[in-house]
Amino acid sequence: MFCKIVAGEIPAEIVAETPHTVAFRDINPQAPTHVLVIPRVHEPDVASLAAAAPEAAAALLSETRRIAGLEGHESYRLVFNTGAEAGQTVFHAHGHVLAGRGLTWPPG
Ligand code: 5GP
Repeated sequence: MFCKIVAGEIPAEIVAETPHTVAFRDINPQAPTHVLVIPRVHEPDVASLAAAAPEAAAALLSETRRIAGLEGHESYRLVFNTGAEAGQTVFHAHGHVLAGRGLTWPPG
């Protein structure tokens, strides 16, 4: 499904695009800032992405930091749910950038 966002076939509130990544607002935000950063290449999760396309994984990581800054946050949480038991529901690698409220630990 996120491949369709990369292709512009389904709408999303795009925050930024780079040659390797697309960043857009989560449809069901869990914090005032909740942006998903995804690679343009399709890999099911971040572990596969790191193994198959390390340059895209590095670009994704640095883009999450840039997005947090663009949104005005020095502190943010970066989450990669990896695997269904860890809460992953969309199997196209994506990092959640969460910020703008106090974030507790441990996560639920
Ligand atoms: P996961 O649970 O896989 O870590 O995260 C998937 C995220 O994608 C969820 O936070 C969910 O709200 C978001 N999401 C699912 N479908 C869409 C969609 O069509 N558009 C947008 N913008 N976000 C989506």
